[in-house]
Amino acid sequence: ARRTLPHKTEGDITDSASDLGHPTAPALGLPVLKKAKGHYWYPVDGPKILDACGGAAVACLGHGRRDVVKAINSQLTQYTYASYAHFKTTPVQELSDWLIKSTDGKMQKVYIMSSGSETIEAALKLALEYFLWTAQPTRTNFIAREQSYHGTTLGSLSVSGHVARRAPFTPLLQPAHFHRISACNPYRQRLPCAAGDGEETDASFVARKVAELEAAFARLGPDTVAAVVLEPVVGAALGCVPAPRGYLAAVRAVCDRHGALLILDEVMCGMGRTGVLHAWQGGGEDAAVVPDLQAVAKGFAGGYQPGSALLVGGRVAGVMEREGRTFTHGHTYQNHPVVAAAALAVQRAVEREGLLGNVRVQGELLGRLLRERLGGHPNVGDIRGKGMFWGVEFVKDKGTKEPFQPGLGVAERVHKTAVREFKVLVYHGQGCAGNGRGDHIMIMPAYTITAKLVEEIVERVASAVEEVFGRPWV
Ligand code: PLP
Repeated sequence: ARRTLPHKTEGDITDSASDLGHPTAPALGLPVLKKAKGHYWYPVDGPKILDACGGAAVACLGHGRRDVVKAINSQLTQYTYASYAHFKTTPVQELSDWLIKSTDGKMQKVYIMSSGSETIEAALKLALEYFLWTAQPTRTNFIAREQSYHGTTLGSLSVSGHVARRAPFTPLLQPAHFHRISACNPYRQRLPCAAGDGEETDASFVARKVAELEAAFARLGPDTVAAVVLEPVVGAALGCVPAPRGYLAAVRAVCDRHGALLILDEVMCGMGRTGVLHAWQGGGEDAAVVPDLQAVAKGFAGGYQPGSALLVGGRVAGVMEREGRTFTHGHTYQNHPVVAAAALAVQRAVEREGLLGNVRVQGELLGRLLRERLGGHPNVGDIRGKGMFWGVEFVKDKGTKEPFQPGLGVAERVHKTAVREFKVLVYHGQGCAGNGRGDHIMIMPAYTITAKLVEEIVERVASAVEEVFGRPWV
């Protein structure tokens, strides 16, 4: 008799643990999803859940957009796959041209991939190969920051300062080539003023950070450094922490002075999340900071397909162009036409509907309401972010900024209470990806959010926070 795989209907899906789950959320006990539409998740059992994080800042357009699904279907009916070794495809060409244009030509080449990790991995390899092409083989060191997360593959994990994720795999990581300076976290690291009133200015904070970077170059030997790798607005590792004014420009200047590349990881904060398409277009004194290599993912295809891209700036692309160099790198699914069709449809919708403007306007509102509603809470230490990218950090003592003990899982409790009791999904992080201390939640709704839903999100999140800290265990 012919055997068929058992077909499960919604009703049959029990609490199966046959998938691997997630490091912060084992598969058991998670709700089973029936559908998602707009700003809501609809589980099989129970009421709909307001989506205030889009997974990990992925669903930038919300769920179930017909225009994107239509574009994907249309591509699927034309051809489902073509190897980039054999064909050029229209969606990849259009998307790449669109991306280059979105940088005013400052970035010049594009590689389309499937995940953020792959993209960071590719950036590291391309940096290394660039220095071989340009006869600088000594440049094999990378400088990143502590309390950072750049991906889960061995190269991207080697560059990451995520202690917990690195720990089991240290024998396979590459400490000889990956070095770290401290994170850039104004809330935790600004020094008090000598006079005792307030804290040091952005300028003196940035000067200290840059001196540390300079010292790292000096220690390693400036001509051994291939690149500095950082997130312009730190996502899950710290909880939506923007770089202070002048920091990116100062880092760029150090890289330039020593001939190293600057790799910006915009996997989470890029593609419109902060109110500009690329976080490096953020303005102010950092406006001139253009990366040499830039990784984008999450909001790139908005979760409609697994999509990411590496953007290559003029310095590297110029050598490739002039010398006819090709990058010794490739994935089977690189430049996948369906991924490109999805990303193109997402990006066109963002553009057509003026959603970056909405991100900025609603982002102001979100920040203001979070501060009004939670700023005075004794266990809320800091509220920071921009656009649709806001973090709330919890502390045991607001005055001393003392964090909670990691074992308490404070952020996780807020997350669980929010989703179970107040039906709003937020992202939670614990431990600043470093020392296991520093609980935060992240609020990262879709760019289509309305003022009414922003109010709703803040109200529900604040209720969850009050509920959790009102309990006796604190
Ligand atoms: N870089 C940053 C800043 C991220 O937030 C992530 C994922 O969360 C990655 C890289 C890795 O991306 P992915 O999980 O798509 O491999």
